[in-house]
Amino acid sequence: RAETPTNFIRQIIDRDLAEGKHDGKVVTRFPPEPNGYLHIGHAKSICLNFSIAESYGGVCHLRFDDTNPETESEEYVEAIQRDVAWLGWQWHGEVRYASDYFDLLHDCAVELVRLGLAYVDTQRPEEIARQRGDFTTPGQDSPFRERPVEESLALFARMRQGEFEEGEAVLRAKIDMRSPNMNMRDPILYRIRKKTHHQTGDKWCIYPMYDFTHPISDAVEGITHSLCTLEFEAHRPLYDWTLDKLEGFLASRDSIPARPRQYEFARLNLNYTVTSKRKLKQLVDEKYVSGWNDPRMPTISGLRRRGYTPAAIRRFCDMVGVARADSVVDMGMLESAVRDDLNATAPRAMCVLKPLKLVIENWPEGHVEMLSAPLHPQNEEMGSREVPMAREVLIDQADFQEQANKKFKRLVLGDEVRLRYGYVIRATEVIRDAAGEISEVRCTYDPETLGRNPEGRKVRGVIHWVSAEHSVPCEVRMYERLFTEASPDRMEEGVLSVVNPESLQVMSECRVEPALAGASPGSRFQFEREGYFCVDEDSEPERLVFNLTVGLRESF
Ligand code: ATP
Ligand code: MG
Ligand code: MG
Repeated sequence: RAETPTNFIRQIIDRDLAEGKHDGKVVTRFPPEPNGYLHIGHAKSICLNFSIAESYGGVCHLRFDDTNPETESEEYVEAIQRDVAWLGWQWHGEVRYASDYFDLLHDCAVELVRLGLAYVDTQRPEEIARQRGDFTTPGQDSPFRERPVEESLALFARMRQGEFEEGEAVLRAKIDMRSPNMNMRDPILYRIRKKTHHQTGDKWCIYPMYDFTHPISDAVEGITHSLCTLEFEAHRPLYDWTLDKLEGFLASRDSIPARPRQYEFARLNLNYTVTSKRKLKQLVDEKYVSGWNDPRMPTISGLRRRGYTPAAIRRFCDMVGVARADSVVDMGMLESAVRDDLNATAPRAMCVLKPLKLVIENWPEGHVEMLSAPLHPQNEEMGSREVPMAREVLIDQADFQEQANKKFKRLVLGDEVRLRYGYVIRATEVIRDAAGEISEVRCTYDPETLGRNPEGRKVRGVIHWVSAEHSVPCEVRMYERLFTEASPDRMEEGVLSVVNPESLQVMSECRVEPALAGASPGSRFQFEREGYFCVDEDSEPERLVFNLTVGLRESF
């Protein structure tokens, strides 16, 4: 595996290790919330966390940040594990869950109350929100801020027993209602949710907030560098406050190898798509796409089904790099990463998307000749395949014109073209159906031209083809970008208003060379002159379905 380029986080780690911090160990974590499928933005975070662990001889944990039972599910838990593993990363030990620490988190909350650093607020949520103020106005203290410790302890116990309904009480940290940082204005630590949790069932009806859960989970796992996206920068003081106040308590419960530090990096934004689980879920729920793994989705599972390779996605993440400045990456960069990878690795094949029949009149009836074609033009080691040639062949409708000037490097009536890996043919006559459409083209072939140029003539070009009798029928799904606008997020009418109605075009009469019969879902090919394609999971033994992964050239 190529070494990942350095970045400001690696430089921080280099310095930490040089200063002898963390006993020379590096422990990172990837902490997804199981409320949707992972997308390309998550891939950046995954590659960052796992590649750092790998380069420094450390480990990376996979931890589900599962503190919100309403929106989370086991389906997402499973999909996320599949996607991380598919990208080629191995998390250290068992999968972890923030919910594994619910007992500890509860005890930490009780400890903060005991220390006089947290209190139960029994005001309505709207009232609490109103008192919080905003960036221009300082907050106001809750009337319950000075509630005696014993009273808060008793109320918190009753919250836990289910004696309050949702919204009737919360546990808040007592920090500073006048802080310029909104996150420090007595943030909520625990709230009531009477929901069954996918891991803990009905054991709990109070759930800890992310900002309280995260530092404690990091600390008990011995995370050294807790990497998150820039929007958490203003949460860092609360992260540190929580660990400062609980340091002694945590040390008495666990032996903590290192005090974790949070560092922030810029999210990945990609044009012509969205990287927000909420918006992607809306596309799924409202059936704009067939599911989370629709090949047009920027999800890891969608990209996988589209034919992307783990190597291409990792390479893309390296190209994007890690910085603190927000930017929008061009979709063309992701496409070129997979194109470069498949150009080197995908076996070649011929597939005719819109067939036009040619009858080669001087080819003997019933005669079949097996032609040999390399699987990769630049890599002999990949070997070759046999391509049958017979009297009737299919070419693409776009590769024939009755009349054309010299720029048309394909078949023209009265002129010659080479069938790739085969013979030079000449079109002699056009046959039409009752509606006047061309139904076939009569041709002749020159038997002296296999692997040899004809003498004294120049053919117009080389086109791909398949044998009519031997080729295999298939469906090809052609994709364009899912959105017609570069910044769907910025649309006033919402992202759904700019979904590209032509993002999927199904070609149902395609024919592929017989060597591909029985190809298994996920196999990738270059269809010569068309692009890179992969076998879709909807394929049946008698009818393959292919997805366009990416065209041969940048098309935008
Ligand atoms: P979304 O906004 O899509 O719901 P999220 O940040 O809420 O994303 P999480 O499941 O909490 O999703 O994310 C897990 C990790 O992935 C977090 O550390 C988060 O910062 C990171 N992450 C999420 N989206 C991106 C992105 N676009 N670029 C880089 N990292 C991301
Ligand atoms: Mg999150
Ligand atoms: Mg989110």
